[in-house]
Amino acid sequence: LVVPDYPAIGYIRGDGVGEDIFPQAQKVFDAAVLKIYGQKKKIEWQKLLAGGEAFETCGEYLPKETLAHINENLIAIKGPLMTPVGESFRSINVTLRQKMDLYACVRPVEYFKGIKSPVKAPEKVDMTIFRENTEDIYAGIEFASETNESHNLLKFLEKELNVHSIRFPKTSALGIKPVSPEGSKRLVNAAFEYALKMNKKRVTFVHKGNIMKFTEGGFRNWAYEVAREYPTFTKLEYDEIKNERGSLQAENEKKAALKSGKIYVDDVIADNFLQQIILNPENFEVIATLNLNGDYISDALAAQVGGIGIAPGANINYKSGHAIFEATHGTAPDIAGKNIANPSSLILSGVMMFEYLGWQEVAELIKIALSFSFRNGNLTADLGGKLSTSKFSDVLIDFIKTY
Ligand code: NAD
Repeated sequence: LVVPDYPAIGYIRGDGVGEDIFPQAQKVFDAAVLKIYGQKKKIEWQKLLAGGEAFETCGEYLPKETLAHINENLIAIKGPLMTPVGESFRSINVTLRQKMDLYACVRPVEYFKGIKSPVKAPEKVDMTIFRENTEDIYAGIEFASETNESHNLLKFLEKELNVHSIRFPKTSALGIKPVSPEGSKRLVNAAFEYALKMNKKRVTFVHKGNIMKFTEGGFRNWAYEVAREYPTFTKLEYDEIKNERGSLQAENEKKAALKSGKIYVDDVIADNFLQQIILNPENFEVIATLNLNGDYISDALAAQVGGIGIAPGANINYKSGHAIFEATHGTAPDIAGKNIANPSSLILSGVMMFEYLGWQEVAELIKIALSFSFRNGNLTADLGGKLSTSKFSDVLIDFIKTY
């Protein structure tokens, strides 16, 4: 990615708490860039409309100009957007991801000292989830109960495809779960590239291939195919050695492979994985998974390190370079406009954006400022503290200025 010194970054302020957190996060970003680069580099913020604000201004939830800007400039950052009720598209977020083919949803989950956690050893949680973003049951191909479409599809399954095991009621609503080798492999590729870049030692594929053989099981098999293209030692190799030459030999070869810098690759069934991340979170580093599993896992992991108020995310197409960084939470209507929301999710999404731009020192400085603040008990209400959104950001900015 070639980044100019004054990159034009589109921003979507977002609805609800977006109005509270975005301006504060932006001040933190600018302070950090100024501290590191002085006048040499600067973000040229360009406001883009989407969501409620766009609808009020131009009668559309996702104006063409917004899409065109992101298309041209590659990178944008956004606050949460409300989902319009009764509109033809399901969600503005999903539409944005689909239009830009942002196939990887990347969610780092990291614990900061000073934040209360429901688990015993939250400091052991340090994972990055790569969730496939364009396929799976989220593709939106669903048919309501007792409609011509669902009746026809049932008839087609029975007659044309000779599916005899339809034991569910004919009144069932139906959904389609497309999972392709292309979609799976590009996501898993992204996970491995990240693991290499960040010097991670373990990549885990999470799936329900035991039940859904061709979709989830297909993902698992394609993922292992990708693993072969990287310096890895896989659980498949381990099992093969174990069967042929015994456990001791398998263990020794695994140790030798890891010592030589190879990445250990395994797969875990999704339900077991949700147990394992509570029991043994230290066993996992980079996770690659399909859309629905990724959705559950991201929130479950976010809860372990302080909740959605501090959970960042990015939606990325690594081939075209398009990337949208976003707070993962919603518009939080219950606290919107009160200046009490936690801006950390958006600020940490900004950290991801600076890493993507290659402005590593800016990213690090913001993270150090956040660590310092949390450690010293500077917390917003969602984390049990008393600071307002703006006061919390002021603490960060003061730290950045004097660092
Ligand atoms: P939500 O994430 O808005 O809120 C869930 C809970 O988390 C609420 O109690 C809220 O107060 C709290 N919360 C959220 N963000 C917080 C923050 N920064 N600081 C402190 N507390 C925070 O989920 P919801 O209520 O289910 O959804 C509200 C709206 O947001 C819906 O229209 C939904 O479609 C939309 N939504 C948008 C996105 C997105 O833009 N990426 C994601 C999820 C939901």
